Amino acid sequence: MTSLTTENHPPAPAAGENTPAGTEREAELLARVPVGLYIDGTWQPGSGEPIIVVDPATGLELTRIANADVADGRRALDAAVAAGPAWAATAPRVRAEILRRAFDLLQERREDFALLMTIEMGKPLAEARAEVGYGGEFLRWFSEEAVRIGGRYGQAPEGTGQMVVSQRPVGPCLLITPWNFPLAMATRKIAPALAAGCTIVIKPAELTPLTTLLFAQLLEDAGVPAGVVNVITTSDSATVAAPLIADPRLRKLSFTGSTGVGRALLRQAAEGVLRTSMELGGNAPFLVFADADLDRAVDGAMLAKFRNIGQACTAANRFIVHASVAAEFARRLVARVEDLRIGRGTEPGVTIGPLVNDAAVANTERLVRDAIDRGATLLTGGFRPDGPGSFYAPTVLTDVAPDSDLLRQEIFGPVVGIVTFTEEDEAIRLANDTEYGLISYVFTENIARGQRMIAGLDTGMMGLNTGLVSNAAAPFGGVKQSGLGREGGLEGIHEYLSPKYTLIPAS
Ligand code: NAD
Repeated sequence: MTSLTTENHPPAPAAGENTPAGTEREAELLARVPVGLYIDGTWQPGSGEPIIVVDPATGLELTRIANADVADGRRALDAAVAAGPAWAATAPRVRAEILRRAFDLLQERREDFALLMTIEMGKPLAEARAEVGYGGEFLRWFSEEAVRIGGRYGQAPEGTGQMVVSQRPVGPCLLITPWNFPLAMATRKIAPALAAGCTIVIKPAELTPLTTLLFAQLLEDAGVPAGVVNVITTSDSATVAAPLIADPRLRKLSFTGSTGVGRALLRQAAEGVLRTSMELGGNAPFLVFADADLDRAVDGAMLAKFRNIGQACTAANRFIVHASVAAEFARRLVARVEDLRIGRGTEPGVTIGPLVNDAAVANTERLVRDAIDRGATLLTGGFRPDGPGSFYAPTVLTDVAPDSDLLRQEIFGPVVGIVTFTEEDEAIRLANDTEYGLISYVFTENIARGQRMIAGLDTGMMGLNTGLVSNAAAPFGGVKQSGLGREGGLEGIHEYLSPKYTLIPAS
């Protein structure tokens, strides 16, 4: 090894410097990002102390943004409620064309969004560009879906009348998004909501709010009318969100984030019997069978594990590898991992950025220490590089004991933990032995085995010989405690629609 030396680490910032650590281009971009609350089509100051947004690669302040309190949140909901009837009555074609314009504008402004995500969240620029591509597809897909909101017509079986089923927007929605995919998690909710005719209040994560603010400006430029999209940023999400969820005018809560917070929000949503969509945590098994193409499995592992520095709900969390190929799989994987280059995501050639903050690094360190204490073997990594920023070296552990926290909790860091199996049934049992059920990855060249895995693995999604499945045209979501509902695909728009059945008796 290794490329994981301090030479690859970003240079320490000048002492006392409290301005963006990056280039003039970054400073120019940051100067264009709106920093207010976006309510009823205007940018407004927040009532609380400004939120400081930090670059996780340097620990330096990027900018300060508005901090909403309860009254600000309520004003945002007032705006969404007031704009609701006109937006619901707007022709689907008009809604579709606004979304399509937003898609086109995003392509034009692609580099701004990619750079902004890299500096506020840390992902390498190439990955940020890929997220602009993925996130943008939800705008295009739902612009196409907006004009295909179907209904149903039929005869009552008794012949006593006509049955008509139409679709109506559910009404004002609160959308709460996480920090790890600042653009895609927003577009995956905003696009179907708008396509369905719903108005929204969106609350991005306080760690990475800038992308959503810049995106709100893009939506305004695309022609979204005032009040249809409102953005509130706050350092006190629980206090600001609770009265909105309790407000009888709100009709839908869509949340992406951790299972713990999702559970708490579901309890609150029960009070008003709100429609809910919950995209929660994962603990993805990554199964490699003896008949797998090992190079393909290693390619898949690099994507499924190290994309977004391991900070994805879809990240492979448990590597369950047949005992006969485990040593060779680990050897090839370590070789690839030691070629990763750590650093600030804006630097050419960097493939591993920082984790989102120091708490994330401390959590990763804790999980690795626990696994080693329980007998795991460290093959590479396992340390925090010197220098500023919230970095953790890509790590591979093998012989991980079943009771290790690494296998039971979401890692959310660049750490591979390998366990072995010998029988197919045992692999399925290990894979399903979790409260989560978002995604599984299976590597086998045996079609019949692949089909048995589709049936046997208890997850909402599966990658068969691939480490990346996300697609705007596919239903994304989990079973068990990974969530409720689906985003994307033909299913996605129905999260924001209510069927209305009308009976017309035969005359
Ligand atoms: P988080 O649950 O801490 O926060 C998510 C969002 O909820 C943030 O905007 C946060 O400010 C807000 N929030 C936190 N507590 C709240 C409360 N009491 N009331 C209202 N809002 C509250 O999650 P995170 O750390 O931002 O994101 C990582 C988690 O998200 C991981 O568990 C990951 O698996 C999950 N995730 C899931 C998906 C999916 O599609 N299933 C996608 C991305 C991330």
